Amino acid sequence: MDHLDGNVLAGATTELFVFEPTATHCQCEACADIAMLGQAMVYGYPMGFVARCRNCDNVLIVIVELAGRKSLNMRGLRWLRIRDQSRYDHIQAQQ
Ligand SMILES: [Zn+2]
Repeated sequence: MDHLDGNVLAGATTELFVFEPTATHCQCEACADIAMLGQAMVYGYPMGFVARCRNCDNVLIVIVELAGRKSLNMRGLRWLRIRDQSRYDHIQAQQ
């Protein structure tokens, strides 16, 4: 089955988060691979999204839209590393 790369998640995930998650690092719960979410293998578009680990094929996240609501399952991730944007903005203002 053909797949797209994780960058196709940008629009769908941006609607759920106030940051851009495809550029954040995450760790696979199954194999401990660390990569940007944008490096995941994504299946299922346009019905929804199933993002699988690039290393072991574990399901990292699932996004399903039904009746005007989006459901997000992230149980395949050990963690998602999010930059503290307020701290980053402060550092940028000093430069
Ligand atoms: Zn994995």
